[in-house]
Amino acid sequence: MKYEKEINRRKTFAIISHPDAGKTTLTEKFLLFGGAIQTAGAVKSNKIKKHATSDFMEIERQRGISVATSVMTFEYRDTLINLLDTPGHKDFAEDTYRTLTAVDSVVLVVDSVNGVEDQTRRLMEVCRMRDTPVIVFINKMDRDGKNRFDLLEEIEKELRLQLHPLTWPINSGKDFKGVYNLHNKSLQLFTANTKASDDEDSVSIADLSNAILDEKVGDKDAAQLREDVELIDGVYGNLATEDYLAGKVAPVFFGSAINNFGVKEMLDTFIDIAPVPRDRETTARVVSAGEDKFSGFIFKIHANLDPKHRDRIAFLRVCSGKFERNKYFHHVRLDKDIRFSNPYSFLARSKDVIDDAYPGDVIGLFDTGNFKIGDTLTEGEDFYFTGIPSFSPEIFKELVNKDPMKTKQLEKGINQLTDEGVAQLFTQFGGNKKIIGCVGELQFEVIQYRLLHEYGAACEFRTMPFYKACWLTSENQQKLDDFLRFKQVNSAEDKDGHPVYLAQSEWFLNTEIQNNPDIKFHFTSEIH
Ligand code: GDP
Repeated sequence: MKYEKEINRRKTFAIISHPDAGKTTLTEKFLLFGGAIQTAGAVKSNKIKKHATSDFMEIERQRGISVATSVMTFEYRDTLINLLDTPGHKDFAEDTYRTLTAVDSVVLVVDSVNGVEDQTRRLMEVCRMRDTPVIVFINKMDRDGKNRFDLLEEIEKELRLQLHPLTWPINSGKDFKGVYNLHNKSLQLFTANTKASDDEDSVSIADLSNAILDEKVGDKDAAQLREDVELIDGVYGNLATEDYLAGKVAPVFFGSAINNFGVKEMLDTFIDIAPVPRDRETTARVVSAGEDKFSGFIFKIHANLDPKHRDRIAFLRVCSGKFERNKYFHHVRLDKDIRFSNPYSFLARSKDVIDDAYPGDVIGLFDTGNFKIGDTLTEGEDFYFTGIPSFSPEIFKELVNKDPMKTKQLEKGINQLTDEGVAQLFTQFGGNKKIIGCVGELQFEVIQYRLLHEYGAACEFRTMPFYKACWLTSENQQKLDDFLRFKQVNSAEDKDGHPVYLAQSEWFLNTEIQNNPDIKFHFTSEIH
């Protein structure tokens, strides 16, 4: 393998969680370990600073939520880690789902007080679709959380994920005393705001019957820990790394991100077991990361940095071979060769122009409108990477032009924004109404704001009575055409010309599914 060394030192992953579980805090601790930032609080304050790396949009600052998906690259123990950030806000969940197609594994943060929450469930569904390896971090152990056995059971049941604890906590809340590392048999004692690497807080206890345990945590907790560990050892045994890599078993760590407690244990294990860039499916064949020839795909397009220039950054995940600056690559959809003179890499807080990139890397390509989500670049071969999902939106509104003089700008704007994946655009059959489908209300505000500020086009939205979009396929083209004609008001095509049924309610949808056995109703459309 030509680039074996480069490939084997890379790990590309994302941290996912329900908002407020502690994703940002954990990200920050990872960056501190990686030496990418020096002070605690740096990541958080980025959210509100004017020219912060992950802050491209005015609206993001106004609302203090991380709309953008950004990339942070740092090194730890000779491993090059690409951490892809994802917006926590549910209205931007689609962005997160697409980002998950660009990673090789994830760390899932669960709040020990709240347990499994809505977003956690959905995110795990996406991971399951791709058998993405998952490590679970149970956070906020310094708070009075749920009973730890109950919590594990809840996660296993709700997320349909088999767990395997690698550390085990001693109590929680104000009685939280630390975690016992089941793997290397050491006890990590908790003091608030500790640095997890401080040696004096770590005690090696190869044999749990050793009296040193009672001395450190007290008789009662020592007895409890012995009991717990015996139980856990009996139930779980040793972690089979191949089961983790196959997405079947998720190692679990307990800790407190804000206190930087239990984080290093997880990061070290991550470095040891997390997958390096893997093979990927395409429309033509499986592409191996180790192939000599370059290939990669666009999973995210970022709004312009400067509204006056309307330029964008397309995020490309390198899947095989070597990306090189100024070399011509084949844009499969446009069937043309293009080169990039200023590709960016994302070193935690600044962007640097890079000369080359390897599988696992995510680079930013300066774009003036060549790209849309799912586009593939190769060294000449024609294929698309598969498995980039487009989910049914949940809110539908008609796009109404408020300024007839700006029709062109509006058209262009909405086309570009939907290429970016901000929303989905459907055109009603017959009526030619433009219908925008989003996952959340907030996205409509973003669209309205951006159309006005970036394209000078004013628009309004008129609510439409739909609740779901289903992509339609059929082996009987006549039946499909008839259906679309009869159901004109509820029929539309998506941007790629694929027919879609817009259902008013679950009842209508079920009725149509029953009445039309020759037609298949799909709830997601893979872009390729
Ligand atoms: P995100 O929305 O998932 O990115 O969550 P944040 O990292 O912003 O954390 C949400 C809140 O939980 C913040 O107020 C954090 O200070 C707090 N938090 C994070 N980790 C811990 C922890 O280990 N213990 C406690 N008590 N609070 C935490």
